[in-house]
Amino acid sequence: MDTPEQRIQIAVQKTGRLTDHSIDLLQRCGLKLTQSKDQLFLYGENMPIDLLLVRDDDIPGLVSDDVCDLGIVGLNVVEEKRQELLCGGREPRFKQVFELDFGHCRLSLAAPDGTEYSDRTSLNNTKIATSYVNILREYLTKNDIDAEPVYFSGAVEIAPKLGRADYICDLVSTGSTLAANGLTEVETLLESEAVVIQTEAILGDEKQALVDRMLQRLDGVLQVRESKYIMLHAPRDALPQIRDLLPGSEAPTVLPLDGADDKVAVHAVCRENVFWETLENLKAAGASSLLVIPVEKMLA
Ligand code: ATP
Ligand code: ZN
Repeated sequence: MDTPEQRIQIAVQKTGRLTDHSIDLLQRCGLKLTQSKDQLFLYGENMPIDLLLVRDDDIPGLVSDDVCDLGIVGLNVVEEKRQELLCGGREPRFKQVFELDFGHCRLSLAAPDGTEYSDRTSLNNTKIATSYVNILREYLTKNDIDAEPVYFSGAVEIAPKLGRADYICDLVSTGSTLAANGLTEVETLLESEAVVIQTEAILGDEKQALVDRMLQRLDGVLQVRESKYIMLHAPRDALPQIRDLLPGSEAPTVLPLDGADDKVAVHAVCRENVFWETLENLKAAGASSLLVIPVEKMLA
């Protein structure tokens, strides 16, 4: 068995909005996991990689402190930790390596319905309830606004009703929670989605190679999500136009067709979704026998 030093640790949210997507993503990288009895970590059966299941707020700290080598967490949590460390005069020792296109939300300021809000200057001399005190402070300083952040660990949206704050600064996705609490969004501080962060600590060669391998697989999984393999027949003289129509593709493979000198077969990997409209445009340009196939794995 590998010693813990030779295994890599990936921090993942234990229970919450990011959990299923994060575990699914790692499984699509080929990782097979066993649930441990205490459910604090998932053991990698076929690779020396374990998942540490924790509260999302702890993930950037675990990666920065080199307890975990990688972490999957919302950019909002990463930025809050970054600002907290910088405020305390410490350098964050993690870097963002991938955006994952799930867990989309934004950190916004919202006002109780009926508040007279013209622009950011309306925030002067007010109290703003938030769990994101460090991001909010940085925003206020950068925009030269004199307002007081009030820390709420949860249920931020009830702060104005309790008379504890004039505004709130919280995560929004659809806006329905805000609307249900009689609040209207007035400013966006940060657009967020789940990201992969990596420790900046120097690892041993073996461990570094394992981290690099995992990142390469992650890159492959993220690339194939939209990628399609497209095959078609085309008149030889329509090739330049057809190449221009293939979405996000590099040099296509052009093959001769038996018994048809004026026609060729074209095969290409398209790194974007292929829509019906694209197929119709290709057909109009002279393409026939069009076939679009999903890509399962990709290694650049
Ligand atoms: P934990 O117990 O791990 O601290 P939590 O309550 O802080 O859980 P969740 O509500 O599961 O966390 O949210 C996790 C992440 O999902 C957020 O940090 C954010 O990046 C993202 N997210 C996406 N949409 C929303 C939303 N509408 N509200 C809150 N978070 C959202
Ligand atoms: Zn949390």
